[in-house]
Amino acid sequence: AYEKIDEGRGRDELHEMALAYNDMMDQLGRNYEKQERFVSDASHELKTPITVIESYARLLKRRGFGDRNVADEAVEAILSQSIRMKDLTAQLLDLARSDQAAAYTFKQADIRDIAEETVRPMRQAYGREFSIEGPEKLLAETDPDKLRQLLFILLDNARKYSDGAVRLTLEEKEGLVELAVADHGPGIPEADLPHLFDRFYRVNSDRNRKTGGTGLGLSLAKEIADGLGAEISVESVVGVGTVFRISFPTNRQS
Ligand code: ADP
Repeated sequence: AYEKIDEGRGRDELHEMALAYNDMMDQLGRNYEKQERFVSDASHELKTPITVIESYARLLKRRGFGDRNVADEAVEAILSQSIRMKDLTAQLLDLARSDQAAAYTFKQADIRDIAEETVRPMRQAYGREFSIEGPEKLLAETDPDKLRQLLFILLDNARKYSDGAVRLTLEEKEGLVELAVADHGPGIPEADLPHLFDRFYRVNSDRNRKTGGTGLGLSLAKEIADGLGAEISVESVVGVGTVFRISFPTNRQS
């Protein structure tokens, strides 16, 4: 909390300054709250794997070395929780960095190339169908690395949560680049849609538990979209599939 300056009634310079000051302090306050929430969410999420690792290490110390089954179970759990912690910390670091404006470097780039470069290694790694539709060349101003990272999150989710082909479409419409990542997977219940971009949010389903994700991917996607000056949205129908859309101006000045 801070002492608000009396904004007064007159439309004079002092009044403008008071308004600007109060706005700035509000903004700082919001940033501080965001930061605090981030730290508390992150600590909470990291606590679970640490607790599991600790209790299995204790079990191992107590009786693991005399009992092969206990030892196997403990080592397996310690390994999988360590990997989970590694993934979590890597994603949390990405998330912390992604809202720093200085982290973005914009330049003229071919969005088609960026799409191809993102998809190529995924086709190879998963032997799945990833199609790209749209113009052979689509020039726009963006940060190619960040856009690649954003597309990767959406394509990788489409792959994880569905079995069939994943389609990426590119389009240029009225000075906007429009990208869509579509799958014919299980879809997302309407009630979950408003929370998808929240940190650590995961839809509660069997498939979901098996993939062992962190629920951070889409919040990172949203932060990156903000940094890129892009809108991100989702449409989904249970049993039909999901489409994530990104749109941003071809030219940052216009
Ligand atoms: P994670 O994949 O690590 O769980 P995300 O933030 O990337 O975290 O996604 C949040 C949740 O949104 C996922 O757990 C999943 O339930 C749902 N989701 C995301 N993409 C899709 C998709 N293409 N199809 C169905 N569900 C999805």
